[in-house]
Amino acid sequence: MELYYIVVFFIFGSVFGSFYNVVGLRVPQNSFFQSDRSYCPRCEKTLHWYELLPIISYVIQTGKCRNCKNRISPLYPTIELSTAILFSFSYYLYGFDIDLVMALLLTSLCVIIIVSDITYMLIPNKILLVFLPILIIVRIIDPIEPWWSSLVGAAIGFILLMVIILVSKGGMGAGDMKLFTLLGIVLGYKGILLTFFLSTIFGTIITILLLLTKRINRKSAIPFGPYICLASLTTFYFGNEIINWYITSFF
Ligand SMILES: [Zn+2]
Repeated sequence: MELYYIVVFFIFGSVFGSFYNVVGLRVPQNSFFQSDRSYCPRCEKTLHWYELLPIISYVIQTGKCRNCKNRISPLYPTIELSTAILFSFSYYLYGFDIDLVMALLLTSLCVIIIVSDITYMLIPNKILLVFLPILIIVRIIDPIEPWWSSLVGAAIGFILLMVIILVSKGGMGAGDMKLFTLLGIVLGYKGILLTFFLSTIFGTIITILLLLTKRINRKSAIPFGPYICLASLTTFYFGNEIINWYITSFF
């Protein structure tokens, strides 16, 4: 039964990932509710249902439009596959539990933000505002001990990023600050500090790799949202283990 549900969550994740691509790309352009069907951005041919299957269509078409052979962005299947893996991994870790609800919500938020921050260098307010009340409700039902952890986490997230924005003048923006505040609610005060620490490590490592492989240059503007998201997911899944490991190793 376990494996059955892991597969089910994988399939659901790929479908949701496909939807989150659309959300992340359209919400910043205020075109989310336009009813136009998906089409190829180059030849503008409307896509059939079999060209819109998550992951599968991209693989079968070897990453090209069937009509004009234009290269399809690898971001789409990457997002679909990542969401699928994260959904099934969340079920694997938590089973049918309130923690699973939080894991799926956090995964969804992160995936949408990664799409829109990579594409537009923007973390849309609308997305944060949709998730805010839902995340608060789930945290009230399933609080982190002690009871004030989420409140203090949100305050730390807000203040920490505010200071960095004022000191660094650019690099991080108001969107990152709001995201950090939201994540403070989800992860609590220990979690948000770990997320901050991990996001700077991930950011540094990945930026160096991108510079070395000449994918970006020194002047490239780099969205920070994806690193924050990767760090927050790492903290959500493995935070306690990382903190315990750190304490037992160094103290
Ligand atoms: Zn085309």
